[in-house]
Amino acid sequence: MRNLSDSGFILKSKPFQENDSLLFIFCQEQGLKTFKASGVKNSKKGWKANFLLFSEIKFEFIASFNLSKIIKIEKQKKFTLSNDFKVFNLASFCSEVILKILPENQKSIRIFSLLKETFSLLKAKDLINKKNLPFIFFIKLLSILGLCCDLSHCCSCHQKFIKDQNVFWKYHGEVLCQNCQKNFNNVQLLSFLQLKILNFWQKKDLSKSLLVSISSDDIKKFIILIDQEMKFFTHHPLHTLQFLS
Ligand SMILES: [Zn+2]
Repeated sequence: MRNLSDSGFILKSKPFQENDSLLFIFCQEQGLKTFKASGVKNSKKGWKANFLLFSEIKFEFIASFNLSKIIKIEKQKKFTLSNDFKVFNLASFCSEVILKILPENQKSIRIFSLLKETFSLLKAKDLINKKNLPFIFFIKLLSILGLCCDLSHCCSCHQKFIKDQNVFWKYHGEVLCQNCQKNFNNVQLLSFLQLKILNFWQKKDLSKSLLVSISSDDIKKFIILIDQEMKFFTHHPLHTLQFLS
């Protein structure tokens, strides 16, 4: 066991045993990691976890094979996100996406930077179009995960997909036709609806994404689709991230 320090964003906290909390943190060095923190609920210590949610914290911890223990969190400025319920929900949504998609110990400096960018935009006082941010966050996350592939042609024989044709998801995020999928291992059936959703995400222009106004109907549709499709993405081979970061 040794003492280490890192910085990161607390994505979620929940009570653990009698007086402790579990903190789910996306760290700069350690990646996505669950920590035990003693006395977080005790306000005398001045680091109530809920007030630190979605803020960048610097902390020290004792590394352990099972559950690393946080021993010190540097004092933070007053947290402003919690004052705005709508913005708080948008930040929670981004956190949930990370927690549902990524496995424990997944490291990625690019995802860390994306969280940093998104949370600071959510906190920005002069930015009006915040409801788009989770959407943009998700598309960027997909792109980091290698999901911006050619979705209209088979990556092996290059034939164009036709409507209602079964296609297959290949390792590293490419898409295969019915014939070619037989030559590859670890392929997964991709329904036409799933393909449509991926296209829908991909067509959004990321460079203009902050300027383009996405209707609230689009956002609603998007959130419903993610809920439905989250299971599908959970099975994506995410260890490719190690090479991307
Ligand atoms: Zn093919």
